[in-house]
Amino acid sequence: MVQLLSTLQSLKKPYIFPHIEQKLREVQKKTPHMSILNFGVGDVALPLCPTIAQALTSAAHEMQTDGGKRGYGPGCGYRFLREKIADVVFADYGIAADEIFISDGINRDITELQELFPSDVHVAVPDPAYPAYLHMSLVTGRKNVHLLVCTEEHGFHPIPPQEHCDLIYLCSPNNPTGVAMDEHALQAWIDYARTHEALILFDAAYAAFIRSPGVPKHVYDLAGAKECVVSFYSFSKSAGFTGLRCGYTVIPKELKVREGRERVALAPLWEQRQEIKCNGIAYPIQRAAEAALTPQGQSEARAQIDAYAGCAQCLARGLQHLGYTCWGGEDSPYVWWKTEGRSSWDFFAQLLEQRGILSIPGTGFGTHGEGYVRLSGFNSQAHAEEALSRLCTN
Ligand code: PLP
Repeated sequence: MVQLLSTLQSLKKPYIFPHIEQKLREVQKKTPHMSILNFGVGDVALPLCPTIAQALTSAAHEMQTDGGKRGYGPGCGYRFLREKIADVVFADYGIAADEIFISDGINRDITELQELFPSDVHVAVPDPAYPAYLHMSLVTGRKNVHLLVCTEEHGFHPIPPQEHCDLIYLCSPNNPTGVAMDEHALQAWIDYARTHEALILFDAAYAAFIRSPGVPKHVYDLAGAKECVVSFYSFSKSAGFTGLRCGYTVIPKELKVREGRERVALAPLWEQRQEIKCNGIAYPIQRAAEAALTPQGQSEARAQIDAYAGCAQCLARGLQHLGYTCWGGEDSPYVWWKTEGRSSWDFFAQLLEQRGILSIPGTGFGTHGEGYVRLSGFNSQAHAEEALSRLCTN
């Protein structure tokens, strides 16, 4: 009988997000009358923006006509969307349409780009972090995984290590800590990557939430970034696309990797890989993503981002006002709440069962998430206020 790779079975913990959804269903079943305020998984809470919905339906109608019918699309995305992203998002950063590869969201590309590199390369993963980086590194049989421990003393920033790493996962603003790296912290990583000929896999899922001066919206502002940073963007949280699925990966043409003694550009290799592995993202979805970047689409999406940011900020400030310690909620939709001596699972259970507040235990994001829970701002300010008032009552 065919043998299974043992890597998937050997993961010690269940993947956190479906596990939390399951816990929620259990509590709802046990206490059907309890109203639960959901600050858990972090899926978008608002309906699709009208301009995006309109583009989606127009594209479907267009496909009903002889002149507009579409089959397989290009593996790296339609030209109209690649050009739109280059013009609207990267006009000031010198990133061209050919350096932008359309995807079905960040998750797949950021976990699969590793497949281009041998299994013994050294992979660095922050702890705590979005759990897919570590899970997929283990599932693909990586032998050398280094955890970049992000502690309170360093403001939860991952610090470049002494040892050599080849592939480095970074996410800013970070999920789960809600902390964004400033230009100095990012530059230190770029300098490390250039010295070690390493590649940074930069998750920019929450770039749209950055507001603070000194926190770069895009890494390509920084010296040397185009030589060593692949960035991953998504319409999921910036335009409500979690159920539609669209994102993009940026690989600058200057970025080279080693193949034997040669240094070869990564972008054409990724293009070739995409042509083999991906038969394109649906045409209506790409038209909808294009619409999200029109002035009207941007203004509707911005209103939603502001609402989520307002919810996160209300939670963070309200918790601080009540005497709790927390981070995030400024450049990010997430709030990282210290559990003051209680285990993150106990604190999670107590919040859920006694206050009807759904969070995520910090250990779901790595061992060093112990002692914290994450609250997501993908909810409303009214619910944030309700949660704060529930925390005031005995
Ligand atoms: N990266 C981070 C840090 C996330 O928090 C998420 C989703 O929550 C993703 C990637 C997945 O994004 P996408 O929906 O684009 O696959």
